[in-house]
Amino acid sequence: MATLRVTPKPEVARMKAAQIAKPGAEFEMVDRQVPEPGAGQVRIKVKACGICHSDVLVKEGALPWIQYPRVPGHEVAGIIDEVGPGVTVWKTGQRVGVGWHGGHDGTCRECRRGDFRNCRNGRVTGISYDGGYQQYMIAPAEALVPIPQGLSDVEAAPLLDAGITTYNSLRNSGAMPGDLVAVQGIGGLGHLGVQFANKFGYNVAAIGRGSENAALAKKLGAHIYIDSQATNAAEELQRLGGAQVILATAPSSKAMSALVDGLGPNGKLLVIGAGPDPIEVTPAQLIFGSKTIQGWAAGTPAASEDALNFCVLTGVRPMIETYPLERTAEAYARMLSGKAEFRVVLTM
Ligand SMILES: [Zn+2]
Repeated sequence: MATLRVTPKPEVARMKAAQIAKPGAEFEMVDRQVPEPGAGQVRIKVKACGICHSDVLVKEGALPWIQYPRVPGHEVAGIIDEVGPGVTVWKTGQRVGVGWHGGHDGTCRECRRGDFRNCRNGRVTGISYDGGYQQYMIAPAEALVPIPQGLSDVEAAPLLDAGITTYNSLRNSGAMPGDLVAVQGIGGLGHLGVQFANKFGYNVAAIGRGSENAALAKKLGAHIYIDSQATNAAEELQRLGGAQVILATAPSSKAMSALVDGLGPNGKLLVIGAGPDPIEVTPAQLIFGSKTIQGWAAGTPAASEDALNFCVLTGVRPMIETYPLERTAEAYARMLSGKAEFRVVLTM
């Protein structure tokens, strides 16, 4: 006689995610199955995720190759929840982050030369695959950054993009202790740039619009504050001897163009803020004094590890506003408004 055995169906774990269904769509909260990590991947239980201005690329569909629906977010802090096959150095329960650098192939020419940041097949978290605007995410093991004790999840999150970008661009800029280094823009990037520049031992000039940011810039570590509305910032920098580096963080190409003449001999305009318009410069402005303009994007996970440890060592911290995941649309609008002080971070 046959017996009927009823096996209870295993309950599939569910989670909440804030996704963009198609270019230009609004954020929608959706219920999804918790994803399983494949070979070489881990699953992260997300605790915090920063909202970055470049998430606009996903929201508005600025890159034709992005596949939708897509969950943005490349400033992720959380805990490894499950480890996929072949992952040996990362353990369940470990605190980790994932930043802009979302993975590299390890085989292209740049990777063989050790330049993982410029991998030909590099992937970007929250753009090439779903990022941190959700309760769980999958990340390739090579993209992980250990988060040190001494940094909370909401503090670590913005450091994994805004932090690493300012830290890494400045520490590779060639500026030496005591050099005049200007930070243009006191915002999401700039407020970190000023702090790092101070801790690196530079003579720090913060350039902002209006006098209202002067006190804050000084508090963050600026030695000099230049109000670009009240004075010609380039002339002011020349009066101080000319800047060795100008870290241009505000996404205004016009403001960046106006600063080129503030560079000293062998000075460098270091571009990390991304506006849509061209930066204008004449050949003569670069030729006389051998000046350069350089762009910079984030850094490898190993460089991010350096950045996080440096922040613990020196007390550099992001200023943040937090919103729960359920209020992603509101939090994103707050970031876009430019009024947030200074990074908006989702919590799960
Ligand atoms: Zn590569």
